[in-house]
Amino acid sequence: MKQAKVRLYVDHPLGQGQTVSLDRDQAHYLFGVMRLGVGDVVALFNGREGEFPARVIEAGKRKGVLECLEQSRPLHMPPDLWLCFAPIKKARTDFIVEKAAEMGAALIQPMSTEFTNSERIRRDRLQAHAIEAAEQCGGTYVPEVVDLMRMDKLLDAWPDDRQIMFCDEALVGAAETLTAASGHRWAIFIGPEGGFSDRERARLHAMDNAHPVSLGPRILRADTAAVAAMTMWQQVLGDWG
Ligand code: SAM
Repeated sequence: MKQAKVRLYVDHPLGQGQTVSLDRDQAHYLFGVMRLGVGDVVALFNGREGEFPARVIEAGKRKGVLECLEQSRPLHMPPDLWLCFAPIKKARTDFIVEKAAEMGAALIQPMSTEFTNSERIRRDRLQAHAIEAAEQCGGTYVPEVVDLMRMDKLLDAWPDDRQIMFCDEALVGAAETLTAASGHRWAIFIGPEGGFSDRERARLHAMDNAHPVSLGPRILRADTAAVAAMTMWQQVLGDWG
């Protein structure tokens, strides 16, 4: 059997023998851009049922049909890690979402803080970035990008059993790092360009399940900080080891 050279996310049930109809954009991508045709094989995943090679059985300009073969990979769930971050400029927010999907976040929570500049996000566009990142990196899971929420509201309903890796720029250069603390449910908190306010910082420091952490001796931009924090978390508590 030919090896799939393209991976495609589809919002469709998958299983051996299952046929999957393509929408216009998917058909254009596979047949117009990637130049595939009838008989070629594509790797499909839907974020729920693992990965299936699928053979093209109909190829048109605006539509197409694939048929799933035997499952090639099971679903691999990431650790139960949320990335909670304050949106910044568009391109940098896109970068954070893309990297969160690649680095194995289970959920992406944009949150507005007192010093957040950008009060609006396009959730659908960010979700599309997460899907594209999963397609590229070989992930079988796609983290959900949920609606923007105010940080204080998020904390009002915070579950007791979810730990917070609180990346506090006030600790720049301090020794506070992440240790293998108890619990498997975690969230990383990254502030906006202006940082966390004193009130937000005090609230997080007062929470038993929040773990203030320094990301080294330099102040990082929020997008760099998000990647650094996910790297640190994955190394100490995640699925890298
Ligand atoms: N304007 C703030 C200042 O000058 O102190 C810097 C905010 S920083 C650009 C954005 C976010 O990245 C911070 O709120 C924090 O969550 C994280 N961050 C950046 N550098 C960090 C560090 N060295 N230690 C911990 N967190 C850091």
